[in-house]
Amino acid sequence: MTTQTRNRAGQSQPPRSSRSPKGTVQPAVNGGSSHMRLLLASSEVEPYSKTGGLADMTAALGKYLARAGHRVGIVTPLHRGIPAQYAKRIQPFAWSLNLPLGSAIVHADIAVAEPEPNLTIYFVDAPVFYDRAGLYVDPASKAEYWDNTERYVFFSKAVVNLARYLPWKPEVVHVHDWHGGVVPLLVRHQSWNDGWMHPPKTVLTVHNLAPQGRCAGGKYALTNLPSYYFHPDAAEFFGDFNPLKAGLVFADALTTVSPTYAKEILTPAYGEGLDGLLRNRQHVLTGILNGVDYEQWQTERNPQLPRPYSAADLAGKAACKAELQAELGLPVRADVPLFGTITRIDPQKGVDLILSALEEMLASDLQYVLLGTGRPDFEAAYRYLAGRYPKKVAVQIGYDSVLAHRIEAGCDFYLMPSRFEPCGLNQMYSLRYGAVPVVRATGGLQDSVVDVREVPERADGIKLQAPAVPALAKGIRKALALWREPGLLERYRRNGMTADFSWQRSVRQYETLYAKLRR
Ligand code: ADP
Repeated sequence: MTTQTRNRAGQSQPPRSSRSPKGTVQPAVNGGSSHMRLLLASSEVEPYSKTGGLADMTAALGKYLARAGHRVGIVTPLHRGIPAQYAKRIQPFAWSLNLPLGSAIVHADIAVAEPEPNLTIYFVDAPVFYDRAGLYVDPASKAEYWDNTERYVFFSKAVVNLARYLPWKPEVVHVHDWHGGVVPLLVRHQSWNDGWMHPPKTVLTVHNLAPQGRCAGGKYALTNLPSYYFHPDAAEFFGDFNPLKAGLVFADALTTVSPTYAKEILTPAYGEGLDGLLRNRQHVLTGILNGVDYEQWQTERNPQLPRPYSAADLAGKAACKAELQAELGLPVRADVPLFGTITRIDPQKGVDLILSALEEMLASDLQYVLLGTGRPDFEAAYRYLAGRYPKKVAVQIGYDSVLAHRIEAGCDFYLMPSRFEPCGLNQMYSLRYGAVPVVRATGGLQDSVVDVREVPERADGIKLQAPAVPALAKGIRKALALWREPGLLERYRRNGMTADFSWQRSVRQYETLYAKLRR
């Protein structure tokens, strides 16, 4: 462990002699090289921690940027279970932090993993905040942790400390969602007032505009920043402190995870109260569709699947379906269409619409499986439905990434009637796995699925316009009609399985954005 010095903002700063356990300090400006130095920060990173698509996205973005030759770091909390599960991969790092958090000083160590050349994961090891049973929510009470603001303001300060003092001098710091929202403000403040020469440019990606980290205005004191940023044009939102808003105001560039969501959030219907601010900043806002990590999400060499299959040879998919039906206790029948959903159980995902539409549609010959966890009332409603229709409905409450692959592989159709969907990954996984997605035409669902009314010869899914029960029931009826036309269904499947959402494409767009910023 190193001893600490303090800079003027009270940030811990490792002494010069111990700053570089691996390599030498590099110049702040990358002399025109096309390879960049990039520090990503995310509250969850696959495989270390995951509650949703954010973890997939940040892990894949980091990995593919590193493979493109960039120097990449990802900062993330050291959540409970990570040290034990990845004991061989994770090393201590000669870096320790004692950062002010309101009136307290909080200590953290840093641990590192280097899963790929050019890629370092920096784990913020602060047991008081991250050694917990859940990431954001206490699994016992299902309530959000009361101190999530403390946990993520602290995380943001740790990110800024690394951004400022890491010997390889990141040129761009790319934060994700409200958990890193304070980072752009802290970087701006330290460059204006605290002697930070050549600070990195900041990018904030909004994976979901709804959670903003909004909390009582008094919690702004956790930032240890002057009160003049607590203002409606900065970090204040109707008297409250809003970390996401701070990021939206101060980041050099903003992105969201699909082009359609980038347009939707400029409207009051999707803007979650921040559409006015976003309209003012739309000149720095881009929508970049997430990619799929096809090394993980594929059907040809996937140890999680009972049989391999591909667009050219779908026989293995029938075997995956039979095994899934048996595993779920459903009648093993090739002739009945199997629908599925893997989701956070939350109204955003239209889980209530599925429940109601199924009440109507379960009179038809179909099966449905849901894997998910979330709102207790909806979990109970799904369990109740499965109890009433044991031969038609299987419900698995919980988080199970192996079962997620098996469901994608075993299903014929995938239901995703989201009210809003910044990007969504499961519809893209479904396309690759030959489970025809039935989706609401919003956000990334609009950008990744092709309906027959758009480009008939490339159709690979069914889109509903309204987030409403009759629209979903109609979508399911269309799926049943497709089921009765095997030739057409196979064409949909092949179109979906050959559609390309690889990360290489998305990474090129991020590279363009970073390169523009560092000019
Ligand atoms: P969001 O991030 O809004 O929850 P996405 O579709 O972008 O939705 O990403 C969800 C990711 O989380 C996917 O990789 C999905 O397979 C996974 N996932 C969600 N719930 C579960 C679950 N209960 N078990 C396994 N994987 C899940």
